[in-house]
Amino acid sequence: MQTIVVALGGNAILARGEKGTFGEQLRNVRRTATQIARLIKEGNRVVITHGNGPQVGNILIQNELGSAMVPPMPMDVCGAESQGLIGYMIQSQLRNALHENGLHIPVCTVVTQTLVDKSDPAFKNPTKPVGPFKDRRHAEARQREFGENWIEDSGRGWRRVVPSPDPKGIVESASIKALVDAGHVVISVGGGGIPVIEDSGMLRGVEAVIDKDLGADCLAAAVGADSLVILTDVNGAALYYGTPQERWLGEVSLNELKRYEREGHFGKGSMGPKVKAVIRFIERGGKSAIISALDRVLEAVRGETGTRVFAS
Ligand code: ADP
Ligand code: MG
Repeated sequence: MQTIVVALGGNAILARGEKGTFGEQLRNVRRTATQIARLIKEGNRVVITHGNGPQVGNILIQNELGSAMVPPMPMDVCGAESQGLIGYMIQSQLRNALHENGLHIPVCTVVTQTLVDKSDPAFKNPTKPVGPFKDRRHAEARQREFGENWIEDSGRGWRRVVPSPDPKGIVESASIKALVDAGHVVISVGGGGIPVIEDSGMLRGVEAVIDKDLGADCLAAAVGADSLVILTDVNGAALYYGTPQERWLGEVSLNELKRYEREGHFGKGSMGPKVKAVIRFIERGGKSAIISALDRVLEAVRGETGTRVFAS
């Protein structure tokens, strides 16, 4: 039985253009759960992780607008809240989808901390936008009063940026591994995990976000996965993406993919981190890594579609 880490992109939970009502999210998650149940039914051991951008963005807005009545929480706590929120939706819907298939496998969510290096250069250069767009006045007041970093985002307004450090390891890896080895379906490392740094042996949450695709690679390492499957809203990675010369990659060798990455084919902060996660996973000894569309996951795992890299 092969162990597959499945990384769910934003659209698995909330599609672009949706407001994010509970009904919308639950409907998306139900569809996602149906796909994952098919994978499990085929005899794969599945470990799940997911993004949290829109959800944590909404929690930040709730914090801000409610701050006159309820003390706002720091970003690491907002990350934990989003893991609980999304984890619950996935575990409830997946439990039901499995049940429908006569599979009575326990499903649970592990709130996860991800270790980052406090001397990571990202801390000196915050780049990852979080939360809502605001005007200049708001941005400048936040910079002054709270020392936050805000940038003007391509004419659309001002947005807070936080560091996006490289994940070094999963703090709860032993617990996750024990559950996976016992046959449980585990949802963890949501949103890349809650970033924590170590100080004289003690761990402490920091105001940063970890890329969920790189977090997925860390999770794959933690559970010793055979395969890393990154599911998103496009069916793989393309060369010359969005141009008339666009060419979608099917099966590709590690060296070819590394060359395309160097040539700059993959969007920063979107396809780029997925390709990086795939390269890291295969270089560390993983057997196969796939980037594909959520609704084609079964075909992708069978090697029929998506961008696929195999260990040579
Ligand atoms: P997710 O929530 O799944 O992580 P992202 O928006 O971060 O989704 O990444 C997927 C997006 O990456 C696609 O919708 C596409 O617009 C973008 N993208 C950038 N470069 C490429 C490329 N070379 N090939 C395919 N998609 C790309
Ligand atoms: Mg993404």
